[in-house]
Amino acid sequence: AGRHRVAIIGGGSGGISVAARLRRAGISDITVVEPSDTHWYQPLWTLVGGGQAPLSASRRPEASVMPDGVRWIRQHAVAVDPDARTVTLSGGDSLTYEYLVMAPGLQLDWSGVPGLAEAVGHDRVSSNYASEYAPRTWELIKNLRSGTAIFTHPAGPLKCGGAPQKIAYLAADYWRKQKVLDRIRVILVIPDPAMFKVPEWTRTLEKVAARYGIEVRLQSEMTAVDGDRREVTITDHASGVKETISYGLLHAVPPQSAPDWVKASPLADPASPFGFVAADKYTLQHPQHPNVFSVGDVANVPTSKTGAAVRKQAPVVVANLLAVMNGRTPAHRYDGYTSCPLVTARDKMLLAEFDYDLKPKPSFPVINTFKERRDMWVFKRYVLPPVYWHGMLTGRL
Ligand code: FAD
Repeated sequence: AGRHRVAIIGGGSGGISVAARLRRAGISDITVVEPSDTHWYQPLWTLVGGGQAPLSASRRPEASVMPDGVRWIRQHAVAVDPDARTVTLSGGDSLTYEYLVMAPGLQLDWSGVPGLAEAVGHDRVSSNYASEYAPRTWELIKNLRSGTAIFTHPAGPLKCGGAPQKIAYLAADYWRKQKVLDRIRVILVIPDPAMFKVPEWTRTLEKVAARYGIEVRLQSEMTAVDGDRREVTITDHASGVKETISYGLLHAVPPQSAPDWVKASPLADPASPFGFVAADKYTLQHPQHPNVFSVGDVANVPTSKTGAAVRKQAPVVVANLLAVMNGRTPAHRYDGYTSCPLVTARDKMLLAEFDYDLKPKPSFPVINTFKERRDMWVFKRYVLPPVYWHGMLTGRL
């Protein structure tokens, strides 16, 4: 597949943002390796699962987001050799690069919880984490009139740390409106000792959960699913107690890690138990291979993995890559900015924005984002998607 000045692995949020910005900076000979013919705006999947947006609104043809003048290779990368500067492709060929940007996202490990891979998509089990299941979440929510609904959050890294709980709030709000909430036991299973990383927002989320009567199980994890019997096992890591509970709806978020071929590659950070790509947390440059950068979910940087983080990482990667191309030292720094729009009702949202130090970093300092707000919900549903398609993916924002 030839020699390429810049190869970008993955044409998702990070890969396309970086490609567009490099084009704007006048770089030619850019190649994106991306197997999928569809580009997904995944943040909308929470609203798809909550019955607030159609799946089609989260989908565009990959060809429509590929920047002009960028070559697209429609294959999977299956291996990388950073010493030889080659990437092996699923078709068997390999390509050679001068500069590499790793942006293949992360992998959903459905088999990480016994029984989950077999049950998801039927047995009243759904997940907003995959486009094929998100619409089904809404079908299950609509059809539940009584019984137990369980929402789980995996231990370990995940994209959009708030998504496992947002769907619980959307569901509970719907059931309340339908006047069936008092007949439904809602359980939210969270592996951490608090509902959220940043205390300012934890307090509000505790109130939201209490308002709906949601039973929050902290330091707990779903450790098995039996789809035939419609039962899950929840392990409380604080007490060691395992409990089996019958469900009428299970929204499961699978464990996540770097794609297997990345884990097995020399670019993986030996310090990352999940195989993410080694990267300086400020410059996003690989510590051993100065011609390799990573962006997005695959980078081993200590922040929450979100599209909002990608929006701040992409300009840093591009500025630092241009510096390296010109023989200079990378000087641009990413501060760990990430943001989690916590939807708490069908018309309310909390916008949590913070950095590596877990310091709140509000984009709109004049408004109080520690409170649930309707304007923030409108922002997520109607402002952020066009900002994504027309601003972020074109390298303007
Ligand atoms: P992706 O956008 O996932 O792109 C990875 C790309 O790599 C894909 O196109 C894939 O096809 C491709 N690829 C995979 N394997 C290979 C391979 N072997 N070779 C080449 N290409 C490959 N973020 C927010 O900011 N706000 C939110 O509210 C929010 N909510 C979310 C809700 C849900 C349910 C989910 C699932 C995610 C949410 N996110 C949210 C997270 C956000 O979508 C991701 O953090 C973001 O997409 C990461 O960008 P990325 O480029 O690293 O990965």
